[in-house]
Amino acid sequence: MFSIMQRNMGWIEVICGSMFSGKSEELIRRLRRAMIARQKVAIFKPRIDTRYSSDHIVSHSELKIPSKMVKDAWDILEQSLEAQVVGIDEAQFFSRDLVLICQKLANMGKRVIVAGLDQDYRGEPFDPIPQLLAVAEYITKTHAICVICGNPANYTQRKTADQARVVVGAADIYEARCRNCFEPPEDIKTEIKLAGKRRRGNKERLK
Ligand SMILES: [Zn+2]
Repeated sequence: MFSIMQRNMGWIEVICGSMFSGKSEELIRRLRRAMIARQKVAIFKPRIDTRYSSDHIVSHSELKIPSKMVKDAWDILEQSLEAQVVGIDEAQFFSRDLVLICQKLANMGKRVIVAGLDQDYRGEPFDPIPQLLAVAEYITKTHAICVICGNPANYTQRKTADQARVVVGAADIYEARCRNCFEPPEDIKTEIKLAGKRRRGNKERLK
């Protein structure tokens, strides 16, 4: 009898959401199940993320799983040739090459599970997650709980004035906020106002 799944077919799963939404926990849960089934699992994270542990993926709740640190997405390809399941955490810190590599791995018949932040601290899409979402077979959006009001939180609020896109930290620098409570940086608010003005200006000229 044929199974519904074609043998040796790979695919991409993306787990994304704000900080403190349980992305790493969900990634670890899926990888653990694969390990229990004795599948060959390879797990990676970018070198930039040195929080907690250098050779493990660790969730904020301190779940742990051994992982390899890599400098770029091409290292993942080289080091996962034997694997049936490939896990990648903190995917937002890789370049867009990660999309090519995930596609390649899935085309080779592997199950690729990627976790990452889908928005940066400004509330803007965080490459390469949007590109990965477009090509993934399965998408899970995880939510935190807004520290201000308790609604489901989809945003990561930075509590410091630092304007670099990547500032590695946890609860000391970031907190989860819902749409109502998230405060985007001033220049984003100004951008929206200016776009509104331009639109009104265009309408005036057309009269
Ligand atoms: Zn809120």
